[in-house]
Amino acid sequence: ALREAIGEKMNDLYSIQYDPETEITVTAGATQAIFTAISAFVNEGDEVLIFEPAYDCYVPAIELHGGIPVYVQMDVSGSGPMINWEQVQKLISQRTRMIIINTPHNPSGRIMTALDIQKLEKLTAGSDIIILSDEVYEHIIFDGYEHQSVARYPKLAERSIIVDSFGKTYHNTGWKVGDVLAPEQLSKEFRKAHQFNVFSVNTPVQHALAEFMKEKDEYLGLGSFYQEKRDFFNGLVKGSKFSLEPSAGTYFQLLSYANISNEPDTAMAIKLTKETGVASIPVSVFFHEKKDDKLLRFCFAKQNDTLEMAAEKLHSI
Ligand code: PMP
Repeated sequence: ALREAIGEKMNDLYSIQYDPETEITVTAGATQAIFTAISAFVNEGDEVLIFEPAYDCYVPAIELHGGIPVYVQMDVSGSGPMINWEQVQKLISQRTRMIIINTPHNPSGRIMTALDIQKLEKLTAGSDIIILSDEVYEHIIFDGYEHQSVARYPKLAERSIIVDSFGKTYHNTGWKVGDVLAPEQLSKEFRKAHQFNVFSVNTPVQHALAEFMKEKDEYLGLGSFYQEKRDFFNGLVKGSKFSLEPSAGTYFQLLSYANISNEPDTAMAIKLTKETGVASIPVSVFFHEKKDDKLLRFCFAKQNDTLEMAAEKLHSI
């Protein structure tokens, strides 16, 4: 039932048909989906391009399977294009097995445009490079932008594995349910690994989610729900010594503390947590060389009074 509901949603939103029997697989969250996809396709010596800052589960899975992460630095600040595709082109080699993309992007809150996806399609056309597209924040997108799923691009979708997570969409990260969408041949390979590391996913929860997916407004209204939270939190933070980086999607907001202190972002995050009770994630931890731009990632998926308390404490810094 859940695979059918997912297939219907993909058709509604992106005009693409994934066969629930052969092309949609329910996973124990996106983390397992990503691990299993890497396990199925990345072998010793294969190169995998990833964009940094990068969500933290990609590199360990690549390395565990003998793959080699190849890092492309993306623009976090929003001042320039998110991805330098010329640099990507230079880094693609005979050994490139996979490119991992993530839009809307954790931790930056940036989103890929149609042009980005078209460039990716062009760069990889005619190759057998697999695109692993982490789209867990697909519904959390603001300011009227449309999510650029690789599913919108039929040629690219033929070589892509899309990863979704119900945890982000239904505010239930602990339930650990996600899904993978991929053409039949790729799904077959994915399932060879999936069978032996999960076998199947909590059935009662799958039925519950399938039922809840009938309420389409729940996911269609998610962007405006979180946009309100973003604007509420950002409005409260304004006037403090922190400065805001633009966030076009996800439930994360980056704040720069460059005007406050020169200490490492890890030390700053620990200090803020201990002294004010406001916890954040230092952005350097998303870089393999711990690049420190004095940025902290805050999560605004909170009750408004929690956001108010946090902002008040940030003003005291
Ligand atoms: N990808 C990204 C970009 C994420 O932010 C997260 C969760 N923080 C995941 C994957 C993992 O999702 P799940 O909770 O479904 O395992």
